[in-house]
This record gives sequence, structure tokens and C-alpha cells, in this order.
Amino acid sequence: MSSMTEPLVRRLRPFTSTIFAEMSALAVSTGAINLGQGFPDTDGPASMLAAAQQAIADGANQYPPGPGIPELRQAIAEARLADYGQRFNPDTEVLVTVGATEAIAAAVLALIEPGDEVIVLEPFYDSYPAAVAMAHGVLVPVRLRPCGDPAIGRFALDPQALADAVTDRTRLILLNSPHNPTGTVLTHAELAAVAAVAIDRDLIVVTDEVYEYLTFADGDAAGPGTGDGAADGARPVPHLPIGTLPGMAERTLTVSSAGKSFNVTGWKIGWVCGPAPLVAAVRAVKQFLTFVGGAPFQPAVAGALRTEREWVGGLRKSLQDKRDRLCDGLTAAGFEVVRPQGTYFVVADIRPMLRRAGSAADTDGLTFCRTLPDRCGVVAVPQQVFYADPAAGAHFVRFAFCKRDEVIDEAVRRLAGSSV
Ligand SMILES: *Cc1c(COP(=O)(O)O)cnc(C)c1O
Repeated sequence: MSSMTEPLVRRLRPFTSTIFAEMSALAVSTGAINLGQGFPDTDGPASMLAAAQQAIADGANQYPPGPGIPELRQAIAEARLADYGQRFNPDTEVLVTVGATEAIAAAVLALIEPGDEVIVLEPFYDSYPAAVAMAHGVLVPVRLRPCGDPAIGRFALDPQALADAVTDRTRLILLNSPHNPTGTVLTHAELAAVAAVAIDRDLIVVTDEVYEYLTFADGDAAGPGTGDGAADGARPVPHLPIGTLPGMAERTLTVSSAGKSFNVTGWKIGWVCGPAPLVAAVRAVKQFLTFVGGAPFQPAVAGALRTEREWVGGLRKSLQDKRDRLCDGLTAAGFEVVRPQGTYFVVADIRPMLRRAGSAADTDGLTFCRTLPDRCGVVAVPQQVFYADPAAGAHFVRFAFCKRDEVIDEAVRRLAGSSV
């Protein structure tokens, strides 16, 4: 084939279009409610938005320092210390990036040789396989599986499956907790198992913790149908950074971002923290990907990390209510859902609904999602595209609940009235 008709290099051809672009375009063309892509429909803290505007007015419009402005690196180090007891030197162990996405891509590009294997949790975030492919690496998925009663269960990590996935070519474990899309917050036991493998096989762990503050109280204490308020008194499931486990600080790069914590997914201010040699390696790549980013946003995020913790607590609480609102609605509409412990998302099994409607048993999530906007005016995202073996995720679809209550309610109303 001519290099003009198929110019993209072979290893990146699987990544030409994303399911989010397809489903968001469908939402626009059909006027459907978009519970596909995970972005909030309300703004972040007012003081933070004002600080960014002020920074522009004050002239923070040229290249900031390569590693990020000192004030932001300091605020990131202070937050990690206050929240988790992690100690990072803001000068050598914290790097500001263009979102978590760049931090992950730069880390993978910096740390693996061609042919090296990268272990990821499956279903995986869509940028992971693309980053691994850009680095000529090999993606090795380890599947999270639903366990327990769907209403109170979770997707769990099988430590043996993880240990079995390691080979002599494994270089990195790319972890994500709280996990998109399953909503799983990895337990101490699961993290300890990952740590044991990483230490035993001398692996680096890159941990994507963009939902670090967005965890919820487990389950639905008062039973189905009474979701809102049921878990009010219960404490959220704690997020535990794997970098805090014994022997892990020296081999862990911790990635996070302002986007999810402060409802500013369009600002693309992220960061990576870890031991100086690992951070220096990521910086070497980062400086030639984007050099720097987001000058006026950096002081605003620094301020928010220092002064808007209460706002984040309110966001967490409101998302917990939205989780229950959507999960109860989906259950009533005939889906089987695993109630997530964190993130913006709930994964729903479409099989019970299909059975009830007497639909073709082989209807998969992709077909289901492609026809859902026309059938009832709602957009969801099929999960099979986030599995190496699509059949394994064919019956799962993902809905986002980071939306205004009235939007969730209308989506649920439409889903309940839909014919499959
Ligand atoms: C949203 C998201 C990201 C991207 O973060 P940015 O800061 O916008 O680059 C990374 N990882 C996961 C799991 C996400 O859901």
C-alpha cells in the first residue's frame, strides 16, 4: 500500500479513532444525553477559576519552568505528605506535566526498550495501549473480574494472574486505582500482592491515581432503591497509594492530575512524583514532547491544592449521591451493575436486560451502544474495546455519572422506557 493512502505507521493503526469520538459524535447527531465521555458538566471551585484569569491578567503567559512552577511543585509535595505521608522533594521528585496522559506516555517512553512488556489492568484506560505501542512495547493485560453479589461486589484483582503475567521481558506495571472504568479501589491486600511481584521481579510501577480523591462509601447500606442518602454516615473507601507500601517508594512513579479532582478536565495540568532518577528520566522525554504547559493554570492549581480541599470533599459527596442515583436507575431499568467504589463511572452488564426483552442473545455492547441513542436517546460506551480479547468485555457498557442530577434522572427515565 502506498505511504500516502496509509501513512500512519503500522503499530499505531489500531488507534486511529477512539470509541469516545464515535459515541460523542452520535450524541451530537441524535441529540442524545451523553453519559459516554467522562467530563463533568459543572465548574470547579470559583477561587481557582478566578486565579487562572488573574494569572493571565498578571502576565503568566510565557513558558513556565521546565519542571513546572516551584509553587505548584511545592503544593503537590505538601498534598502528598498531608494525605498519605509520602515525602517528595519538590525540586527533584515532582514534575508537572500536560495532564496525567502526558505523564504516563512520557514514563512509558522513558522507561521501556522495544519489546519490553508492560502489565496493565484490564479493562484498561484507552491511552495505555497507545502509549505502549508508541514505545514499541508489548501490552500484557491482567483482567479484573467481578466477584460477589453485583449489588455489593466489586471487580477484583487476582494476585496469581498478575504473578503469572510476569516474564523476563516485563519492565513496568502500569496500575490504575481508583480504576476507570470498573470503579474498583484496590485493597491493601491487592496492592501488597502487586508490590511483592514488583519487588521480587525488580519492576517499576507507574500508578495512575487521577481519581485519588473520588472514592465513596461501599455498597448501598439500606438496600436497593433507597440509594440517595443510604450510605451518608459511612466513610469512603480509603485510597491507598502503592508508593506508600514498604520497598515501593524507590520503584514507584505516582501520577495524578487536577482535571478530575477540581472539575477542570480541559486544563490538562498533571504531575508525576517519584525517586529523582525515575522523575529525571520522565523529564528527559517530557521536555521534547511538550516542553511545558498551562502557565496560567499552574498557579491556580497550586492555590486549589492548598485551599480548596473542602470543595473536593463536597465533590466526592455529590458524586457518591450521583453514583447511587445512576446505579439505582440502571438496576430499575434492567441492567446489572457493580456499584463502583470510586471514579466517575459505573459498568453495567446488559445481559439481564437483553434476556428480559427476549433480544438476540448475541447482541454485544458495541451494537447495543451504537443503537441506544436512536432507541432511547442515551449514549454509553461499550467496554469490549478496552479488553485485549473483546469477547471478555462484550456484555459490559460504561455510563458516566459526573453529570447534573436532572441529566442523570432524565437518562434513567429514558432507559427505563426503552425497548431493547
Ligand atoms: C481522565 C483520565 C486520565 C487523563 O487525565 P488528564 O489529566 O486529563 O490527562 C488518565 N487516567 C485515567 C484513568 C483517567 O480516567
